[in-house]
Amino acid sequence: MGRMLIGKGKSVYKGISIGKIFVYKKAEKNIKKEIIEDTAAEVVRFEAAKAKALGQLKGLYEKALRDVGEEEAMIFDIHQMLLEDLDYNDSIINMIEGENVNAEYAVFLACEQFSAMFLSMDDDYMRGRAADIKDISERVISILNGTQAAPEAMAEPVIILAEDLNPSETVQLDKDKLLAFVTQKGSANSHTAILARTMNIPSLVNTDIDLDMAYDGATAIVDGFAGVIYIEPDEVTMAKMQEKKAKADEQRALLQELKGKETVTKSGRKVHLYSNIGSIQDIDTVLENDSEGIGLFRSEFLYLGRDTFPTEEEQFEAYKTVLSKMEGKKVIVRTLDIGADKQADYFGIAEEENPALGLRAIRICLIQPEIFKTQLRALYRASVHGKLSIMFPMIISLKEIMEIKDIVAEVKSELDKENIAYGAVELGIMIETPAAAIISDILAPHVDFFSIGTNDLSQYTMAIDRQNPSLDAFFDPHHEAVLRMIQWTCESAHKHGAWCGICGELGADMDLTQKFLEMGIDELSVSPAYTLALRKRIRESE
Ligand code: PEP
Ligand code: MG
Repeated sequence: MGRMLIGKGKSVYKGISIGKIFVYKKAEKNIKKEIIEDTAAEVVRFEAAKAKALGQLKGLYEKALRDVGEEEAMIFDIHQMLLEDLDYNDSIINMIEGENVNAEYAVFLACEQFSAMFLSMDDDYMRGRAADIKDISERVISILNGTQAAPEAMAEPVIILAEDLNPSETVQLDKDKLLAFVTQKGSANSHTAILARTMNIPSLVNTDIDLDMAYDGATAIVDGFAGVIYIEPDEVTMAKMQEKKAKADEQRALLQELKGKETVTKSGRKVHLYSNIGSIQDIDTVLENDSEGIGLFRSEFLYLGRDTFPTEEEQFEAYKTVLSKMEGKKVIVRTLDIGADKQADYFGIAEEENPALGLRAIRICLIQPEIFKTQLRALYRASVHGKLSIMFPMIISLKEIMEIKDIVAEVKSELDKENIAYGAVELGIMIETPAAAIISDILAPHVDFFSIGTNDLSQYTMAIDRQNPSLDAFFDPHHEAVLRMIQWTCESAHKHGAWCGICGELGADMDLTQKFLEMGIDELSVSPAYTLALRKRIRESE
């Protein structure tokens, strides 16, 4: 290295980060089988990878012990034990020696065999070990083939350089370890971009930079204002960027004086200013930014990055935590919106030609009501711990609302029979399909509120895939068709006594704030980091 390298991308969050690069390379999903002549050397290669994995796990154990406590650290202890398990090791070595296969392939086969064995056991605890076997095997395979999984073992927060990150990978990243994302692929409206905004970190997508391992560990600056990454910056650039960063920090500090102030227009109209979150960890930023509630909890993130459905109990705990931490402020949980870019293999959804137009969100819930009912039970049980509203994604018809209401009634009557208490819960729907927007006058009498999902509404209205960055030139976030649908949806809601908010990214677009206020929008739900700036904008509006 040595000479400064400049890359350009599309910025999805304004801010400046300075730090070290971590090149994130995914492990191959399909492990290739190779025939090995020198099996003794291959066994040595496996042993070396195993030793490195054990070292990583030891480090993780010690770190977890320091940061979060013994109970959480235990898992890394168990992983070390599993990795040293004699049967597991024998199986791998026998395969290398007996079948002349490469170490990656032998680990992959042993993983299949052992996780299947654990899954077939009666005991819940033992079944849970299947995921651990997968975890340790993936760790060894990624060491063997020189890819790097998550930067969890890093001591310092890093700038992640990746080809692309999908939502299930992003949720697994340790947020305290992230300074910025820079990806070669991706688009500004993708969920990864949205997560970056929620986490309050500068990010670039669609960046023209190689995924060169030589950059790993190099110093870099991500300028989210200009959409530029500098690798090995020279002194002049470093000084300039440090100054720019200081100015941005100063600007942010100035906004602090809006904390505790009301979100009202100059003429005294109150607007509810809420936050979008993807996980419980995001609540800290919500509270730090003095947000008035949660307008969108993307509950599907509880389902991502794992191998099995979250249980009713796990979900209950998550919802209870959010509600309790928000101390009586409104929390709107969206029921699971799996599908399209948010894939979880264990749902068993067949490969689709057009996943964004496929089996996703409420469609899965209505086809597999048992999954839906587990989530609803967890939500209703948690509802006594705060002020809960529930909303349903991807609605297109009144028939769906009626079916949902029947299922909700079933869940409530089951809880009644079990003498389990629940609170009064508001029910609303997302307006994120042109179908729902256009018949919003028909839907409004049957719901308490609408929340407009402009990300999908824009994608479906303009027929522009939100994941595809090469269509950016055609994408008009202020397209009149979308704005008219927002206006009509808001009018429909008010005509029938429902309230209407916006939870898509457009809600934070300050060029539209005045327009939204004129339309009569009651609520705006945005990434927590935008809260104070938007409050300022609203207070300056008529
Ligand atoms: C939307 O579509 O605008 C929305 C808020 O939901 P998501 O971005 O999760 O699809
Ligand atoms: Mg959506």
